[in-house]
Amino acid sequence: MKNDGLLIVFSGPSGAGKDTILKRLLETNADYRLSVSATTRAPREGEVDGKDYHFITKEKFQNMLKNDELLESAEYCGNCYGTPSGPIRSWQAEGHDVILEIEVQGGSQIKTKCPDCVSIFILPPSMEVLEQRLRGRGTEADEVIQKRMMRAQKEIEEAVHYDYCVINDTVEKAVDEINQIICAEKHKVYRNADFIERMLNHA
Ligand code: 5GP
Repeated sequence: MKNDGLLIVFSGPSGAGKDTILKRLLETNADYRLSVSATTRAPREGEVDGKDYHFITKEKFQNMLKNDELLESAEYCGNCYGTPSGPIRSWQAEGHDVILEIEVQGGSQIKTKCPDCVSIFILPPSMEVLEQRLRGRGTEADEVIQKRMMRAQKEIEEAVHYDYCVINDTVEKAVDEINQIICAEKHKVYRNADFIERMLNHA
């Protein structure tokens, strides 16, 4: 019998490199499942509806909230974001590790609702590098970048509430460290209690 998959929460300021890290992580392990969030934000160039996000209206978002279809939700720089609860439980029950890439308010809601989730905070090597990365994207106006830098400061203050932090110096190193964290979590005795019990009952 397969254990339920882990629920893994990734947070970190916009520009910390979460997307790149997660893309690589998913390439290296076909068993992971990435939750596709719902958002009221407009798509950026190249973003695909249903793949990067479910891009929905404010009204639809409010309806999802009202109908309890979101595992967590938050407002971020004027837009709403939320995790559709539907796929999460079934993926976990199938033994897949489920990855949520969410900001800190959502991370805190998940920790309360699902205390055995694994939470990982991705940090940039420095605030200077963070700003360079945000500007380098070339997708956001100056005012938005200033907003995101202020928000980044607030987000980093919340890192202390996470189980692990990983500094994104290089993507390869960060992915390697995350794989090690996930591996260690899977070997926690309490996550393998059923296996141990079955073995003892068999003796
Ligand atoms: P972006 O607009 O850059 O794609 O995302 C802005 C922030 O929203 C990022 O920190 C991202 O992790 C977070 N985010 C994306 N999806 C969700 C979600 O479903 N819930 C929450 N709470 N945050 C999300």
